[in-house]
Amino acid sequence: EMSMVTGVQTCALPIFYRSAEVEQRAMTTLSSVSSNQASPDASAALLETRSVFLDDEAATIAFGYKLAQSTQRRTHATAPAAGLGAETAGGIIHLQGDLGAGKTTLTRGFLRGYGHEGAVKSPTYTLVEPYELAHCNIYHFDLYRLSDPEEFEYLGTDQYFESPNLCLVEWAEHGAGWAPSADLRIELSETDAGRTARCSALSQRGSEMLSALFG
Ligand code: ADP
Ligand code: MG
Repeated sequence: EMSMVTGVQTCALPIFYRSAEVEQRAMTTLSSVSSNQASPDASAALLETRSVFLDDEAATIAFGYKLAQSTQRRTHATAPAAGLGAETAGGIIHLQGDLGAGKTTLTRGFLRGYGHEGAVKSPTYTLVEPYELAHCNIYHFDLYRLSDPEEFEYLGTDQYFESPNLCLVEWAEHGAGWAPSADLRIELSETDAGRTARCSALSQRGSEMLSALFG
């Protein structure tokens, strides 16, 4: 178990942080936000954006692992930094990007960060895959195949999106108007042989995650 965690942390080394592009934007600066109308968060305030380059699959997994750590409570000095004992303040993370961009791969790393060692299958057909761990619930959505709000309600998502649960949502665009808006949005795009992850805070909670992630 330890060797696995160490392996993931070793992978964190090749992550190369691009010149931290910090965009402070006021709620009134709608011009910058409206360029992203496909997003369900278009009306939300964009607080800050940072980008990171991910060389390969291992870097995406390591970034997901680090993202998990950035959602963990650190109120007690004795609390474990990661793993099944980790507690969270919860949050909603939207993962955007084309098919094959790395959304599920990132989620795999995220779940490792909470000590989940089993398989992480894509919820393409089930729409949601629940991970009810010792100290927190993580729900991994893929709304690609979602066609109407009834289908969404059928999932009983109200409970899933309750604080302090953690929700990672692929293709939130397909649930626009039904799925709750994000605290943090991560847009993955192919860059050369790797990926760029552009992370935007859309709430105070999202800002906390972003600071922990890049701070
Ligand atoms: P999505 O969920 O966005 O459709 P997946 O995570 O299922 O995408 O698949 C992503 C694919 O890209 C996988 O084949 C994975 O190995 C690869 N991949 C993930 N991250 C990177 C990266 N940083 N650089 C290159 N390839 C990557
Ligand atoms: Mg996927």
